[in-house]
Amino acid sequence: MINLHCKLLIITFDEIDILQKIKRRVKEYLGCDSVDNKTSSYPKARMRFIQLNASDFLPTLVSLKNGYDFVLGIVKADLYLPHLNFVLGVAHPQESVCIISLARLRSSDRQQYIGRAVKEAIHELGHLFGLDHCNDPKCVMRFSNTVTETDFKDDKYCEKCLQLLQK
Ligand SMILES: [Zn+2]
Ligand SMILES: [Zn+2]
Repeated sequence: MINLHCKLLIITFDEIDILQKIKRRVKEYLGCDSVDNKTSSYPKARMRFIQLNASDFLPTLVSLKNGYDFVLGIVKADLYLPHLNFVLGVAHPQESVCIISLARLRSSDRQQYIGRAVKEAIHELGHLFGLDHCNDPKCVMRFSNTVTETDFKDDKYCEKCLQLLQK
């Protein structure tokens, strides 16, 4: 466990059946003092089944941040950015907020689904803690473009990233 003593807020935009699992594993690994969660609504009503611009969620995440060190959004909708066809997650370290999409992480294997979501959450949170992408193929901070790449990496920071975290 890494003892970050951070106050983390999770904002969900849907009913997320694996939320408690994600919360517990993120808390166990990062050692955050608190991991609370709130539910918010989509920035644009009735658009939850189409692909959404990840940046549209930013204002909501920032507006709910008060008192918390970091905010992690979780959404079921597929996300994109203007220069990318899709993204599994996005982090905005300047604002200490990030968001992950579960759309491309789904699996008939529930443990695999949970594992993918935890890896993406720990990856985006890593950016909030100041980490960049890592070349270690097993490190959770390795950039993954597809779930195959997500499956290949661990749900933990490598030694090099851990050292950077503890600075
Ligand atoms: Zn990244
Ligand atoms: Zn690393």
